[in-house]
Amino acid sequence: MEKILNYINGELIAPKGGEFRENINPAIGKPFSLVPESNRDDFNLALKSAQAAYPIWSKLSNEERSDYLLAIANLIADKLDELALAESTDTGKPLSLAKRVDIPRASKNFKFFAQAITQFGSESYSNTESINYTLRQPLGVVGCISPWNLPLYLFSWKIAPALAAGNCVIAKPSELTPYTAFLLSKICIEIGLPAGVLNIVHGTGASIGNEIVTSEAVKAISFTGGTVTGKKIAEISAPMLRKISLELGGKNAALVFNDCDFDKTVDDLVRASFTNQGEICLCASRIYIQEDIYEEFKTAFVERVKRLKVGDPRNASTNMGALISKDHLEKVKAFISAAHHEGGKLLCGNESIELKTQNEAGYYLRPHVFEGLSNSCKVNQQEVFGPLVTLQKFKSQEEGLSLVNDSSYGLATTLWTNDISKAHSLAANIESGIVWINCWMNRDLRTPFGGTKNSGLGREGGFDALKFFTEQKNVCLAH
Ligand code: NAD
Repeated sequence: MEKILNYINGELIAPKGGEFRENINPAIGKPFSLVPESNRDDFNLALKSAQAAYPIWSKLSNEERSDYLLAIANLIADKLDELALAESTDTGKPLSLAKRVDIPRASKNFKFFAQAITQFGSESYSNTESINYTLRQPLGVVGCISPWNLPLYLFSWKIAPALAAGNCVIAKPSELTPYTAFLLSKICIEIGLPAGVLNIVHGTGASIGNEIVTSEAVKAISFTGGTVTGKKIAEISAPMLRKISLELGGKNAALVFNDCDFDKTVDDLVRASFTNQGEICLCASRIYIQEDIYEEFKTAFVERVKRLKVGDPRNASTNMGALISKDHLEKVKAFISAAHHEGGKLLCGNESIELKTQNEAGYYLRPHVFEGLSNSCKVNQQEVFGPLVTLQKFKSQEEGLSLVNDSSYGLATTLWTNDISKAHSLAANIESGIVWINCWMNRDLRTPFGGTKNSGLGREGGFDALKFFTEQKNVCLAH
């Protein structure tokens, strides 16, 4: 079976301890490659190479670093088919989705930050006594750790600004989806990225992840993943007074008013609920509908959801592929049991899935829609991160707002109404880092991206990301 290798000091190498674990293709439930289980020796090697590369990389001009990132962006775009197939095989997501969203966005991330760094400036303040200006300097060696749901998309979203700002990087993709990070290593070699600037080490959170976050030599951690892991990283980082950026879980609400554009709202919310099998931190999972259109909305929504095709990710007509792992499938099924147990009524989800023989051991689940559950129940309060949504009624704008905010999470909320004053007033009072009005996952990469409450700390995107990956220094010159 093919062995994925670490990318350290510009070379592809096996982990020092020689340990590998199986990397499963969730669409067939069988391993297709082996992923390194890296340890402290691999981390130390990566750190040494990043530290050696830093004095040179950080002193390049912004334009020079930008050229390297553009070359990576272009090669990702050129290798769209290969990367999309790898991403689909690793995650179980539809190949069409990887081709349309994941890989183009990974290329765009590198391109965006290649351009952004050439426009990144700083402030200057003058007064009668002095002139002050701010230097924004790279931090040194930084760590980037990402999850399995949008592998190359989220990996590149961290690596690109870190490198653009002049840092050297030790990066760890999820052990469940290492393959496109491995292909990115090959791309970096192909474009001639200087050795040690980017090091990609594979393995679990408990092994190499822990090495990255416990090392004081790593000057900042940019992390995307679960809230429990994020809090652990915050705990470890606090005594070091180290910069951290945490993009964590969500329990995202959609608020549907009786004055919405009905058909568009139904279509968009089906997409918002079940794209990528519901395994996107931004997916809607609590849908609140104004009571006078509740029945009509429910009927239309469920009818559309039932039409979603679940199955082989490589089939062009598939809307939803397999969940990431057997464990995750079991976890989502446990939430479905809890929803029944808590008195929920299942509106759809029990229909059978027709699978080809080769996919029969894959981790498939039909989209589930429940109604009749209170807002305080487990399914409406905890992140499921799978194809399960609940429908609830609300009467007034005030009640809708209070239901939305009744959550320990605060990542993304969607509002569906044609009353723009109402939408703006709600947006100002909603406790989440992102509010979308009459749209979902509409992204301008210049905007601040991130969550409040248990959904995270700090913001990614645009100049926020470049500020995170730099230290500010004020210089004051007396007149
Ligand atoms: P996870 O926290 O289990 O793992 C994320 C990454 O952290 C993986 O690479 C993992 O190996 C590593 N890791 C785990 N334990 C670690 C430790 N102790 N030290 C260092 N690294 C460690 O999360 P996951 O299951 O991979 O991803 C799903 C979660 O990610 C969901 O909660 C989802 O909402 C969240 N997510 C958030 C965003 C966002 O932008 N807010 C985006 C995507 C996913």
